[in-house]
Amino acid sequence: MQLPEALPKKEHVLVIDDTPPNLHLLISMLTRRGYDVRGVSDGLTALSTMQEELPDLVLLDINMPNMNGFQVCKQLKSSEHTHDIPVIFISARDEVLDKIQAFAVGGVDYITKPFQIAEVLARVENQLALRRLQRQLQEQNERLKQEIDSRIIAENLLQQANEKLGQLVNLDGLTQLANRRRFDEYLEQEWQRLARENLPLSLIMCDIDFFKNYNDTYGHVAGDDCLRKVSLLIKESVRRPADLVARYGGEEFVLVLPNTDIEGAMAIAETIRLGLLELVIPHEDSAISKLVTLSMGVTSLVPLFDSQPSVLLTTADYALYRAKELGRNQTYQIG
Ligand SMILES: [Mg+2]
Repeated sequence: MQLPEALPKKEHVLVIDDTPPNLHLLISMLTRRGYDVRGVSDGLTALSTMQEELPDLVLLDINMPNMNGFQVCKQLKSSEHTHDIPVIFISARDEVLDKIQAFAVGGVDYITKPFQIAEVLARVENQLALRRLQRQLQEQNERLKQEIDSRIIAENLLQQANEKLGQLVNLDGLTQLANRRRFDEYLEQEWQRLARENLPLSLIMCDIDFFKNYNDTYGHVAGDDCLRKVSLLIKESVRRPADLVARYGGEEFVLVLPNTDIEGAMAIAETIRLGLLELVIPHEDSAISKLVTLSMGVTSLVPLFDSQPSVLLTTADYALYRAKELGRNQTYQIG
């Protein structure tokens, strides 16, 4: 079933005039025009009427006993409650001073008696239209403010989500170390930077010895656990924010150590290797020890602009190969 469309609410006009014929004329012509009209004959009654219901517009006579129109208007304009209601003055006197004072106390328009019906209606409609527009603007501003607020909130959420995504893209899920992608990016970046600054860049590559045997003996769950323990140990052995630890492959790790020479890099590698022995992780099926051990290749150089970081990578890889060849559980350095 379709509901009938709601009729627009009638606008409410309050007429204040102490002369009964004027009051009745204004009430009847505004009512005929379709307004919801209330009439009172003195200022005090008008003010107390407005405590109950606020009109959309006030037609206000100036000359009244006890409290004149200017005084009533001042009262209306001084209260936050009634401040915005437009007031049109009506006066028998066509005097400039009266008009000036009417606007000075906050009136929006002025009609001189004897009034023309068409003029009164035009001026009333004019002020009500202005007021409707004003309200629409206020509502639009409110809506805009809310829209801006919710957009700011949405943007913040999006930024947080992007940051989280960025971290995920750069992390190895199992070990929470940087992944290969991040490593490649960081090595390239530091290579360029240290070439500019003419400072050394070191790389450590390490490999858990006989890790395939470890998985075969203890299973993949234990294997993953071992990878996490070694990752944590390596991570805790570097302290500077610029040092990056990454998982390079299955059981292979790599450390990027900017502004570190070969001695510094060797010291870190040995700290890691010996630290792992202290963890005493059993490895029954290792050919060289009863514990999990690491073979490590270390290299260092000052990057040159016309060379590639792959030089460093190949050298570290070769150093690691030498460490394995020489019996594993040791660190081999080139550079
Ligand atoms: Mg009067």
